[in-house]
Formats: sequence, C-alpha cells, structure tokens
Amino acid sequence: MIDHQTLLLTLGLGNACFAGLMSTYNCGRNRHPGLCLWTLARIVMGASQLLCWAAAEWLPEVESTGWIIGMALETAAYCTVFELRRLKRILWPVTGLLMLLLAAARAGDANPGTMRGLVLLIVALYGAAMGVLLLRPSNRGTSALQKIIGGNDVAFAVVLACWAWTQRGNVDGAASMLQNGQLQTLAFLSGYMIMIVNGFGFLLMCKQNDDAKMARLATIDFLTGLLNRGAFFERAESARMLAVRLKKPIALMMLDIDHFKEINDRFGHASGDQALVVFADTVRGVLRDHDIMGRLGGEEFALALPGTDLEGARQAAERLRMAVNAASVNIGGSDYTMTVSIGVVLIDPAEALTNALARADHALYAAKSSGRNRVEVAAPRQKEGLCHRYAWDI
Ligand code: GH3
Ligand code: MG
Ligand code: MG
Repeated sequence: MIDHQTLLLTLGLGNACFAGLMSTYNCGRNRHPGLCLWTLARIVMGASQLLCWAAAEWLPEVESTGWIIGMALETAAYCTVFELRRLKRILWPVTGLLMLLLAAARAGDANPGTMRGLVLLIVALYGAAMGVLLLRPSNRGTSALQKIIGGNDVAFAVVLACWAWTQRGNVDGAASMLQNGQLQTLAFLSGYMIMIVNGFGFLLMCKQNDDAKMARLATIDFLTGLLNRGAFFERAESARMLAVRLKKPIALMMLDIDHFKEINDRFGHASGDQALVVFADTVRGVLRDHDIMGRLGGEEFALALPGTDLEGARQAAERLRMAVNAASVNIGGSDYTMTVSIGVVLIDPAEALTNALARADHALYAAKSSGRNRVEVAAPRQKEGLCHRYAWDI
C-alpha cells in the first residue's frame, strides 16, 4: 500500500528532476514554446507536491491547484506541439471557470468528499483531453509513442473519474483520502505513471519531431518542396540499384526552364521564385507517386522514373512539357507562360548515375540548341559503341 506522503515526495522529486533536466536541455538552444510550457507544468506540479509533503499536513487546496494548473499547462504544451491554436485559446478561460467553480463549491461549504470528487474530475478531464489530443487520427499519423502516452492519459483519466465517483457523499474527506483502498492505490500508481510516461514520452516526442524537422531541412528544397540535390542523388541511386536488381528499366530526365533569367530581369527575383513554385507544382501534378524529382539548383531539375523505358519516358516528358506550357504564373496581375526543355535518357544497368545525368544534360543542351520548348531523347548507351546490352532488352 502506498501512503499519501510517500507519493507526494516521489511525485514532487520526480517532477522537479524532469523540470531541472528540461530547463538545462532547453537553455542555449532555440527554445520551443511547447517545451517551455511543459517544463512550467512540471515546476508547478513538483513545487506544489513538495510543499504539501514538507508541510507534513494535508494541504488539499495547494495540491489540487498544483494538479489542475500543471495538467492545464501540460495540455497547453500538447496544443502547442500539435499546433492547435484554437483549442489552446479556449484552454485558459475554461481553466479559469473550473477554478471559479471549485472556489464557489468551497465557499458554499461543500463537504471534503465533494470537493475531492470535483478536483479529481477536473484533473481526469485534462487527462482525457490529453489522451484525445494524442490518440486522435491526424494527417501526420499517430506514432506508437503517441499511442502509449495517450493510452496512459486515458487510463489515468478513467481511474481518477472512478475514484471521484466513489467520493460522492463522502463527508470525512481527509480520513478517506488517506485510507488505502484499492482504487486509491490504483489512482496513486496511475499518477506516478503519468509523471514517468508523460515525462519521458513528451521529451522523446519532441526529439522525434526535431529529428523529422532536421531530416526535412536536410533533404527538401525550401522554395519548391522538392528533394534537394543531395537527397535526389541518394533516392535516385537507390531506385537505380533496385531497377538493376529487378531487371527493370529506369529513365532519367533533366529539365531546365527556358529563358528563366528573363523572368527575373523583367519582373524581379520574387516573381522568379513564384514561377519556380508554379513549375514544381505543375510537374508534381503530372508525375506518378514513385517518380523521384529533385531541384538540382537554380531552374534546373532532374527526374528519375523507375519502371519506365525510353519511349515511356519520352511520352512522360512530352506530357510535362505541355503541362508547363499550359500553366500560367500570375505576375503583377497578368499571366505569364513558361516553357521547358527536357533531356531524356535510359539509365544503363552498368552506368553510374552521374554519367547518366551527364548524358541527360547533353540531350537537354541539344533541346536548347534546337529552339527550346522541346524534348530531346539521348540514344541508348549501347548504340554509342558501348558493348553492354540492357538486361531488360534481352
Ligand atoms: P535558357 O533558356 O538557356 O535556360 O536560359 P535561362 O535564362 O533560363 O538560363 P540561365 O542559366 O542563363 O539563367 C538561369 C537564371 O536562374 C539565373 C539565375 O539568376 C536564376 N536563378 C537561379 N536560382 C534562382 C532562384 O532560386 N530564384 C530565382 N528567382 N532565380 C534563380
Ligand atoms: Mg534555363
Ligand atoms: Mg539553367
């Protein structure tokens, strides 16, 4: 059986340690508002629990206020992490109302059992809210970590709600609070689990989010949202190796917007950027899911088309060329139309990606020389005098 004083000391120390660790981790780095709120929640809960423990007597108001404000701060931290601004905005007025309700019940001489029941219900409400936030299906998907933390929150809310239910009509609050019933032990244990699971869970979740953000920054071109040069080479090389292993064709394209400098010179760099975004969106709209597109730099793009032979790639390139020609960029109220030149090659199974890209660039140059707004297909490598036969041609 767990006594209340031991629980207060354990929770208080645990929360204080989490707050200390988090403040140290958070200082000196780009402070995340969610992490700051979460740290504050731990400080409020830990301080109120240690205060109640040190006072060596039952201080229901301090402990309950600490739980309610702490849980509200933790809910706000989740709202910040999941960018739920509207919910965060109503959180504090709702918390204020709940605190007023408690004050009114106290002023109305509600018996200790009813008071405790109310506090437990309010804390259970925040636990349930956090559980819903973590478990709800979102477009980012619910990670396994979220499911564990959310499940723990829901379990905590259910146990507390059950305990609150048993407090109805319980007049002698202090005595019943310290009596070691099974439900109370369960509630104490779930309170401990909340500190541990939510503590580590939140830290790991923030780390997961930070890692995903770093990976995004390292691989995605900020302006167009396409793969950057490095990420394109990595993905295209994996696709090339898979194609070789499966004896499937894989085509490669180099795309370069025609007379792009003119857009910059006539309308300014910002309009040039706008045109690049329209171009990327247009091409993305024509591609299949498993095609790989990257921005190599400036207004030059590359495309790897796994499972596509030379004729298929030529047709795809024609579709892209026509789609770009049909799309318009709204610059200063008037529509501007772009054109693109495309060089297409089929990657030879024995050929390095850089070599195939050089051949595609050569074909692109030919398309530019023959008047732009064109697709130029490079002759297969074997016809250039190289003795390798395509595995998929045999
Ligand atoms: P061509 O038809 O021969 O391809 O002519 P071009 O004008 O498109 O080619 P060029 O390589 O001479 O010009 C590319 C221009 O793209 C030059 C550069 O200022 C511009 N550019 C490169 N990166 C960016 C960018 O991120 N934003 C904008 N707005 N312009 C860029
Ligand atoms: Mg160009
Ligand atoms: Mg260029």
